[in-house]
Amino acid sequence: MQLIQPCAIHWFRRDLRLLDQSSLLAASLTGLPVLPLYILSRWSGQHAWTGAPRQEFLCGCLASLAKNLEVHGNRLWIRAGDAVEVLRELIRESGAVELHFHLDPDPFGKKIEKSVMSMCAELGVACHGHAGIAAHGPTAVLTQSAQPYRVYTPYSKNWLSLEPPVPVKKIPLLPMHPQAGSIFSERLPDLSWWGLAPSGAAILPAGEKAARERLKLAIEQRITSYAAKRDLPAESGTSRLSQDLRWGLLSAASVLHEANTALAAAQFGSRQNVEVFIKELAWREFYLSILHHFPNVLDEEFNPDWRGLPWDEPGENYRRWQEGMTGFPIVDAGMRELKASGHMHNRVRMITAMFLTKDLHHDWKLGESWFMRHLVDGEIASNNGGWQWSAGTGADAAPYFRIQNPWLQTARYDPDARYIKRWIPELNDVPAAKLAKPPEAGRPFAAGYPLPCVDHSTERDRTLAIFKKYRNP
Ligand SMILES: Cc1cc2nc3c(=O)[nH]c(=O)nc-3n(C[C@H](O)[C@H](O)[C@H](O)COP(=O)(O)OP(=O)(O)OC[C@H]3O[C@@H](n4cnc5c(N)ncnc54)[C@H](O)[C@@H]3O)c2cc1C
Repeated sequence: MQLIQPCAIHWFRRDLRLLDQSSLLAASLTGLPVLPLYILSRWSGQHAWTGAPRQEFLCGCLASLAKNLEVHGNRLWIRAGDAVEVLRELIRESGAVELHFHLDPDPFGKKIEKSVMSMCAELGVACHGHAGIAAHGPTAVLTQSAQPYRVYTPYSKNWLSLEPPVPVKKIPLLPMHPQAGSIFSERLPDLSWWGLAPSGAAILPAGEKAARERLKLAIEQRITSYAAKRDLPAESGTSRLSQDLRWGLLSAASVLHEANTALAAAQFGSRQNVEVFIKELAWREFYLSILHHFPNVLDEEFNPDWRGLPWDEPGENYRRWQEGMTGFPIVDAGMRELKASGHMHNRVRMITAMFLTKDLHHDWKLGESWFMRHLVDGEIASNNGGWQWSAGTGADAAPYFRIQNPWLQTARYDPDARYIKRWIPELNDVPAAKLAKPPEAGRPFAAGYPLPCVDHSTERDRTLAIFKKYRNP
């Protein structure tokens, strides 16, 4: 049925919020009725990069968004299938004359956008792709010769020198399509939509309200001691905002705005903590910029020196890594945290990633994919950046000869083994100092916990030899 009523569609993608929502605001400022839409992909359990924890979080975000839209006098429409076809059908059905959405940062999303834009041109619909995934998007932070940066420090200096964006004003009431009742919507999805079983992971509460509470906690309590605590996985020293930025429950601009406000108010002693936090936000945008300008990083090493490196075939040790049974407590604690919570502390992400690539000699793409399947904050750009950094192959990567020793990392960042014991209860009775060294003479740390699957110093030497031998001329 055709419902001829000029209206504007706002297509929610990874901007599942109503505050600082420039695209939805623009749709509402047209003065037309607004149709807020989310499109579910139809794949069923087939996508190697998508797993239950992130989809579960998405389901919670959509449910919360639907309620928030009702408060604004509207509702959320859900359709499923190929985005171009869904939009074409809905435009025809509803009489939409405008389409608004936020531009996506990854090559897959961009490909869809291009087709959506051509379809709108064909139908004579005004198509508006809004920037907003980053405080300073990939084309705003360039070298003096208008080239993309390949190294973080000069990128971040430029990024920090830019005028921070000001969050946009609140959205007024969103007038509903007069024939809303006749426009079909799928029900809110649950995991069964994608053929996924619940992971059992204890993930953070989803939705914009929960994200704003996390932001408040981070700004009021965490970022003023951020530099001192951010590397200690046993502490709650980081913001825990990554999934909120990933799904756009918070805009990058609003997080930066709050952090800058905290910086302006900070006492002398805590200023540096807030500054370090802001620089982490710049890391996120650095990797978004790398992916924008060098999308080939998804298929190959960023640094051409290391393309074609030989990797071992994954076998038993890879399975042990996935399960948190390598016999290296700090590695296993991280891998178990990931499965149990859909999150892993940043320091431990680096340790587990270096362990997979430098101790087990496995391709970083295997780890990239495993993380994407399990992380609630799984973000293509940051995940690829983090993996390539750890493997020594990426933009601004750790040089190949700087190989973290998991035992020394334990002594430095989890000296009292609180983090290890939180995730590996078998080790509860083992003195912390013992867990920062390989176990003595072939005796496991505790019954039921395995011996280390490799010897770190032997594998370190092997990695150095491989990298030296295979360096491209
Ligand atoms: C191997 C590996 C894989 C990673 N995969 C992801 C991923 O899929 N998604 C993701 O958001 N982050 C990823 N990171 C970066 C980082 O680990 C997480 O952003 C961080 O742990 C999230 O916790 P937080 O929100 O408490 O961070 P905080 O320390 O409070 O930092 C604030 C915000 O800054 C950003 N940020 C912080 N550190 C980094 C970093 N190194 N790179 C990019 N952005 C950063 C995040 O958006 C984060 O929410 C990865 C890092 C590594 C080493």
